[in-house]
Amino acid sequence: MSVQEERYSIEADWNVFYIDGEWVTPDRSTIDVQNPATQEVFAEVPAGQPDDVEDAFDAAVEAQKEWSNTSLEERKKVLQQAVDVMKSRRQEVMDMLAIEAGSTMPKSMGEFETARQTIEYWANLDPELIADRELESDFSGKTSRIVKEPQGVIAVIPPWNWPFHLAIRSIPPALALGNSVVLKPSSETPISGGLLLASIFAETDLPDGLLNVITGKGSEIGDDIAGNNDADVVAFTGSTEVGRRVARLAADQLSFPALELGGNAPYVVTEDVDLDEVVTAGMFGTFYHQGQICISTNRHLVHEDIYDDYVKEFTARASELPVGDPQDTQNLIGPIINESQRDKIINFIQESVDQGATLETGGGYDGLFVEPTVLSDATNEMSASCNEHFGPVAPIIPFSNDEEAIRIANDTEFGLSSAVRCDDWERARKLADEIEAGMVHINDQPIHEEATMPFGGVKMSGMGRFHGEWILDEFTETKWISEQHEPRDYLVF
Ligand code: NAP
Repeated sequence: MSVQEERYSIEADWNVFYIDGEWVTPDRSTIDVQNPATQEVFAEVPAGQPDDVEDAFDAAVEAQKEWSNTSLEERKKVLQQAVDVMKSRRQEVMDMLAIEAGSTMPKSMGEFETARQTIEYWANLDPELIADRELESDFSGKTSRIVKEPQGVIAVIPPWNWPFHLAIRSIPPALALGNSVVLKPSSETPISGGLLLASIFAETDLPDGLLNVITGKGSEIGDDIAGNNDADVVAFTGSTEVGRRVARLAADQLSFPALELGGNAPYVVTEDVDLDEVVTAGMFGTFYHQGQICISTNRHLVHEDIYDDYVKEFTARASELPVGDPQDTQNLIGPIINESQRDKIINFIQESVDQGATLETGGGYDGLFVEPTVLSDATNEMSASCNEHFGPVAPIIPFSNDEEAIRIANDTEFGLSSAVRCDDWERARKLADEIEAGMVHINDQPIHEEATMPFGGVKMSGMGRFHGEWILDEFTETKWISEQHEPRDYLVF
């Protein structure tokens, strides 16, 4: 196997950074990378230090100068090469997502497809989107041109849950718009969220230094990245707690924080719906990737007229879900990423039962596998409802009218995704208008993302929007160039 071939295999030597177009093995201590299904260590990556962060930023600053002068067509050509490599490495990427991130087959497929659509969008970017604009001036003889320029260096910090896609969500737009990138993946998923992406771009004609990947613990080098003087934008996806710290550090350097943070999505179900359909969508919204998605259904809000039937049907189906190692592609519920996340989930369940919820099914665990869990008689104040539980847990809360549904749905610090199920479109649209969230999906469930649609949240769920034309606000600077074509009257001067 060639060195490049090896860079997709779990047996490869992953004790490397990718800086300035080179694979570097630093003299550093290492971080173990574990398969959450078996809890076996299968690789180790370097524990990067502040000096490594500086090396990565130096390379990114230098490379970006020339890249910003290349044409959009040249940049898109490189991205198209990355699309082709990615497609040819589909199975390796999916295998790595199963082993490193505990992704079941539907999740690996979903993650790969969302990433592919995103990178293809930027590889085919419509030049009109970033073309100069001529604007009318109020001043006689003056013309104005508005130009979109790259920001410079984008620091990218993704989480572990959708590691591959959430790094891809920033890298192709950054590069297409003339920026360079320093990427630090989560130390739970340093390969699929970082080094694997370097492998893909290493096979393209991307000039050296435009994509730099360093691994390391957020607690050790996170501040050096978020607060780096050379970071023009910090594109952070993760918890609200760390996001606030990242925003403070970035703001101190007047770098732009682009923040995609936590969520607590409500799934509002009115009484006039088809039960089978809403339960199927409800199951997907809660159990896809074991509930470890920022836009997972965290709470089911169900009208009291169909509440008992919904609980019965949902419980029956949840208790049948196949749980186990994602390498067996029949399994639909894989492991939780680590023990501390598992313990948090189990605590939320136990506290909710102590607070009066009825445990309809689940509640237990084996290793890192948490049983699909359904809690009825839930209220919005219970631990599993008011916290982002990030697990395969469905608290089901009854409501008696639309005002109450909206009050409960909005009674959270978060405002990322949400969904409304209702057969009366006028009523459904009214409910959707009143939900405080960056995204509301009518007659669907909350897990939905498209490369051309604005993705982001309100309240404590973040700042800014990813994807399509909306990311231009974060990844480009707007420059106003005016031309005065006739002498101006400068008043008294
Ligand atoms: P996290 O603990 O906040 O970590 C996210 C990333 O930040 C990781 O790469 C982590 O590195 C790094 N980090 C840790 N401390 C840092 C610091 N001081 N400075 C800079 N970076 C630091 O979140 P997580 O547990 O990985 O992910 C789960 C959370 O992400 C959930 O709240 C979920 O809702 C949210 N999320 C949001 C979206 C969205 O689009 N809105 C998408 C997915 C997930 P280490 O791993 O090395 O510590």
